[in-house]
Amino acid sequence: MAPATSTPTNASTRTKARAAVPFRFFDLRVVRRERLGPTMVRVTFGGGLDDLTTGGRDQRIKLFLPHAGQAAPVVPTESGDQWFAQWRAMDPAVRGIMRSYTVSEQRREPPELDIDFALHGDNGPASRWAARARPGDRVTVLAPVVEDNAGIDFRPPAQTQWILLSADETAQPAVAGILAWLPAGVPVRAWIEVATPGDIRTLPMRADAEVTWLVREGATGRRTNLVVDAVRAAVLPSGTPYVWIAGEAGAVRALRRHLVCGRGFDRRQVTFTGYWRLGATDEELVAEAVSGTTPREND
Ligand SMILES: Cc1cc2nc3c(=O)[nH]c(=O)nc-3n(C[C@H](O)[C@H](O)[C@H](O)COP(=O)(O)OP(=O)(O)OC[C@H]3O[C@@H](n4cnc5c(N)ncnc54)[C@H](O)[C@@H]3O)c2cc1C
Repeated sequence: MAPATSTPTNASTRTKARAAVPFRFFDLRVVRRERLGPTMVRVTFGGGLDDLTTGGRDQRIKLFLPHAGQAAPVVPTESGDQWFAQWRAMDPAVRGIMRSYTVSEQRREPPELDIDFALHGDNGPASRWAARARPGDRVTVLAPVVEDNAGIDFRPPAQTQWILLSADETAQPAVAGILAWLPAGVPVRAWIEVATPGDIRTLPMRADAEVTWLVREGATGRRTNLVVDAVRAAVLPSGTPYVWIAGEAGAVRALRRHLVCGRGFDRRQVTFTGYWRLGATDEELVAEAVSGTTPREND
């Protein structure tokens, strides 16, 4: 689903209104690529980061990649509310390949932005691109210019007494961002599923978090019950929870069902997002979301 953006209502006030637009396109270049584990790679971007401002936590952005033979992705000229309609109207063989990713880290000195990619082979243009990214490669991102923006879903209500996080490797960068953002003393139980033991990482945090890593041990691209089984077997803290779940859509749905139907959690306290779905490309998920047949993010 496209992130919400606001559009200037009056073209004559374009400059003034632009400051109020919370998202815009940024043309970036790869600075370096670093292996984080057997199936995870960090790509660091620089170039025109200008006023790009993330709000941390699970900050999502849209990444646009070029097609083979293009030097840079072709993106809409409009970054207000019309960008998505403009992108959809463009020739799919020409318009930039659009994917959702999480900002892993943003630094100011020097201006750099990290995205951590879960590699699943050549089965998908983003995974294929990330595995081969080289310094100088060009991408475009649609990203926020204000800290508090609609690309952040992790928003625990004031009455929250403890937090449950669940992720696979695609949402592990978001969990890392959430843990880095939470203040000291907040009780957190987190379950993270990864492909191999080498993909387990140390996550900097101040929160009082117990992180359980679940290793799938085998090929990527499988749906497992690892997380739902682990949470089902766990003794959870008492008090008012706030739940954030992301990963493969079927696994996310299964865990949400267990928490809401099996454990009686209030569904309003469960934020859940299918980051990808087994057997469906992101183009297919976007088409479903547009036609209204399948809710994509936080229905
Ligand atoms: C809000 C949001 C934030 C996200 N943040 C991140 C992030 O920080 N890091 C990250 O790695 N991913 C992230 N994702 C997930 C990522 O966008 C998807 O995995 C995306 O489908 C990858 O694109 P692709 O071109 O590689 O594969 P696609 O062309 O979309 O899919 C091709 C095939 O690969 C399968 N597939 C897709 N992803 C995976 C996978 N991870 N493992 C196995 N099979 C897969 C699909 O089912 C399909 O059959 C995020 C998604 C969302 C919605």
